[in-house]
Amino acid sequence: MSALEVKGLRKSFGPVDVLHGIDIEITDGEFVALVGPSGCGKSTLLRTIAGLETVTGGAILIGGRKVNDVAPKNRDIAMVFQSYALYPHMTVAENMSFSLRLKRLPKAEIDGRLRRAAEILGLTELLQRLPKQLSGGQRQRVAMGRAIVRDPVVFLFDEPLSNLDAKLRVQMRAEIKELHQRLRTTTVYVTHDQVEAMTLADRIVVMHSGHIEQLGTPLELYDRPQTIFVAGFIGSPS
Ligand code: ADP
Ligand code: MG
Repeated sequence: MSALEVKGLRKSFGPVDVLHGIDIEITDGEFVALVGPSGCGKSTLLRTIAGLETVTGGAILIGGRKVNDVAPKNRDIAMVFQSYALYPHMTVAENMSFSLRLKRLPKAEIDGRLRRAAEILGLTELLQRLPKQLSGGQRQRVAMGRAIVRDPVVFLFDEPLSNLDAKLRVQMRAEIKELHQRLRTTTVYVTHDQVEAMTLADRIVVMHSGHIEQLGTPLELYDRPQTIFVAGFIGSPS
């Protein structure tokens, strides 16, 4: 079964059409990177899947369930943004468990999920710290921890590493890969970094002006780009 299905998705802001009928089907456990130039609609697509934007046309299915009219918190997704947006006055543990407390999960369940996520991300020793007492990489890990504890069907990442310096970016890229190999959670990962997409993804979606230019494995895109645009985009330095 597909974990995520996007069918003929259209999105307009007033008179401006941003997404022109997007079709993507993502298998359970797959890691899909979404690339394309700035302004092509990557964030809009992700935000629409997350339920942060309404749908103009078409359908979004998560775990086989149509979610067009389902509130974001009930969509079985977790999103990680470029700006970590951690709550400054909350500890790491509180930041990570906040959404679970909102959902009123039993305390033992919350503690269990928190411990497991902290262990996976190497945050166990840092649970009582405040965000300002963390490095950039550690903050990024907390942001991922907040997503992991929710145990979602789909992870949505919107350029999560673009605020980090080059060295840390490479390190975090490896951590994200390891995390995916461990959890196998279906992932849609927006990046403008072609190398990141090529190294992380099972398949890559190349977007251009609100439509899909090509969808394929890294090797297919590299060996057989179907348009000049794809060839130029994949071949260009990040
Ligand atoms: P990307 O993430 O690929 O850089 P975006 O999805 O952020 O692109 O934006 C795609 C287009 O949609 C841009 O032209 C942007 O100006 C427009 N857009 C995004 N959000 C809004 C909004 N809330 N209102 C109006 N236009 C928007
Ligand atoms: Mg964007």
